Amino acid sequence: MRPPDRAHEHLAAAGLAWLLVLFTMGVLAATRPVAEPAPLVVQAEPGSHLGRDDEALLLAGGAQTTASAGLGFTLPAQDGTRWVLWLDRDPVDALWLEGAGWRSARRDFFHPAADEGTLPSGFVFPLPATWRGDISLVLHAQGHVRAALRPRLLREANAARLAYRGIALDSAVYAGLFLIALLALSLYSASRERAFLALAASSGTALLLAAASNGHLYATPLLDLFAIWRGGGLWALELLFCAATLQLLLRYADLREGGITATRWFDLASVLLVVLAAVCLLDLQGLAPWLQPAVTVASLAAAAGAVVVLVDATQRRVPMAWSLLLLGVLACVAGLARAALSHGLLPDSLWTRSGYQLALLVTAAVLMIGLISRIGEYRDQRDRDHLARIDSERRMAREAARAELTLALQTLLRTLPAADIEWTAFRLLLEHLLPHVPVQSAAVVAYGYHGHDLMLVEPARAKTALQEDVATRSLALRRLAQAGLPLQQPRTLHAQPVMEAVQPLAVRAPGWGVLLLQRAGSEGFSTEELALAGEFSRLAVLHADEALAAFQLRCSAELDALTGAFNRRSIDQWLARAFTDAHRRSQPLSLLFIDVDHFKAINDRIGHQGGDHCLRAIAATLRGALEEGDLLGRYGGEEFIVLLPGRGGAQAREIGERLRAAVQHGRVEYEGQTEQLTVSVGVASRLECEDTPTATVERADKALYAAKRGGRNCVQVAPAVFS
Ligand code: GH3
Ligand code: MG
Ligand code: MG
Repeated sequence: MRPPDRAHEHLAAAGLAWLLVLFTMGVLAATRPVAEPAPLVVQAEPGSHLGRDDEALLLAGGAQTTASAGLGFTLPAQDGTRWVLWLDRDPVDALWLEGAGWRSARRDFFHPAADEGTLPSGFVFPLPATWRGDISLVLHAQGHVRAALRPRLLREANAARLAYRGIALDSAVYAGLFLIALLALSLYSASRERAFLALAASSGTALLLAAASNGHLYATPLLDLFAIWRGGGLWALELLFCAATLQLLLRYADLREGGITATRWFDLASVLLVVLAAVCLLDLQGLAPWLQPAVTVASLAAAAGAVVVLVDATQRRVPMAWSLLLLGVLACVAGLARAALSHGLLPDSLWTRSGYQLALLVTAAVLMIGLISRIGEYRDQRDRDHLARIDSERRMAREAARAELTLALQTLLRTLPAADIEWTAFRLLLEHLLPHVPVQSAAVVAYGYHGHDLMLVEPARAKTALQEDVATRSLALRRLAQAGLPLQQPRTLHAQPVMEAVQPLAVRAPGWGVLLLQRAGSEGFSTEELALAGEFSRLAVLHADEALAAFQLRCSAELDALTGAFNRRSIDQWLARAFTDAHRRSQPLSLLFIDVDHFKAINDRIGHQGGDHCLRAIAATLRGALEEGDLLGRYGGEEFIVLLPGRGGAQAREIGERLRAAVQHGRVEYEGQTEQLTVSVGVASRLECEDTPTATVERADKALYAAKRGGRNCVQVAPAVFS
């Protein structure tokens, strides 16, 4: 991972640390004892029990739904203060005091009275102002949820301070959890990462659970409807919180992508927790005694599961798993302390009563930080996927371009004459390369490639400038080309900075060639672009070489080496093909037989080489006088044949006459002497019924013979045509 991506994590961690410091300071301030309670003796009434320290009346819940205890205390002589009996808010259905001819208001945890305020933090029973001296009262409690009721005798002002402190602390917890839930939801909507949804669910249920167990939920409009479930609602919230938190931890620890294989079991456990929560809400009378123990066992099991998940996460080095494990254990311990408190096993204090809520808040905050830090990971992963996709798309596009270039080179070059091959190959190279490598100008410069010098520039208007540029540094370019290594270099052209890539071409020495790519500005060519240029250049040269070799091979097989006319073998093939074609299409076809006059004498006079020279000259003259589509072949020795597809006898005769005249008037120089050459021509045309050349060739031969007999240097038409 790149270092800058960690920056926001450090920032978030620092912010969290600062918040934690503030929070701890606030909590420490809040735990300072605000009120020293006056001595109070608690004595269990028959059938009721006290907690371990004999200060709390135990309400067992389940089957036993009532408890009462006698309270004995002494109020000092008149000093103007009012005394109250204070009990922390435990989930009782009813709570009241009576004695000394007095009966207090009846308090219900689930239905707080209007005079208890919006965030009631304790049950407050103001004692009659006139009471002084020894007082005995009886405390009555009713309810289904286990609780240890700890009455305290306080001055009214102290009770108020205690209430304010409770309000402050609880509000902080609610605000924190609410904020985390909201943030998690918005992060979920931004990132669609389900862990955030799980965090929102977990901190949302934690908020409801805390508000319900503090009794504040039942003082909130609309949410007070929750009171219809009484204790069952509390248990259901506890179980839902456990299920949501298990799911959150599973996602946080990435168990769904590896890790322990027990994910299924955790999912099953979550479902069971939800089912049990539903059972709690059903309020089934028969199950009532068993529900609270079942909820306790389920919560303990969920806590153990959470610890297992976190231990596994620490082993797999999931970020922040260690701190989460510590906080999770702390939250579990605080939860146990809360349970012990309701059994009357631990003294009532801020830590035992609200410690688990604080631990939950801090854990949720740390989880939040952990998840936010993972956003970087998710984004990196997404970026990597995106880049990989772009890369593979680009690779496919390049692959397609390469295939296209290869196909174009193969199909086009094969049909071309030698002179056009290189030129076309490099034109195709530029045409196919430039869409993938955007440049300002591109050029192929090749010297001595297949015996040609060549310069091809795209766009064509840049040619003059590039020509001058290349001319001034052809030596340097040549050296680069011969070194065979591609390179790119920044240059200044016409006072403008350009980046130039030089890709050598595989031209055989002493020839050399380069592909030049110029891009305006200082942005370089990527390795990919250079690789593509290199590959396309190789393809172009390879196919041009192959096409030329194939062309040469074809020529050597088809053409006569001395004159360049078709050789006897290929002219025979042409003849056969032309006759079948003409017969099928009922088209005319004529032949000329041409024989050099007195060639033996020429050979004798100027030698065999001189004779060869004359033969070449005559072939060139004949070819020059022919039109496209007419074929010239060397039939043997100093005899030529001309195939005239589509021409009848009259046209053929004209052409024969033209050829004869061309030879007669063509000047052939050999060793300073001008040779006077003439030819005799025999003309024959295909008869309508003929689909093979034999008879026509024979008639042409006869016509030639006739021409020779007729005095040479003349044209004779085969009699069959005229007869
Ligand atoms: P005409 O046809 O006018 O009757 O007289 P001619 O002298 O041309 O007679 P002929 O056809 O009998 O002679 C052909 C000569 O051409 C024979 C041979 O020496 C010469 N010849 C054939 N092939 C070549 C060749 O490839 N090179 C050279 N230098 N001479 C050739
Ligand atoms: Mg001859
Ligand atoms: Mg001859």
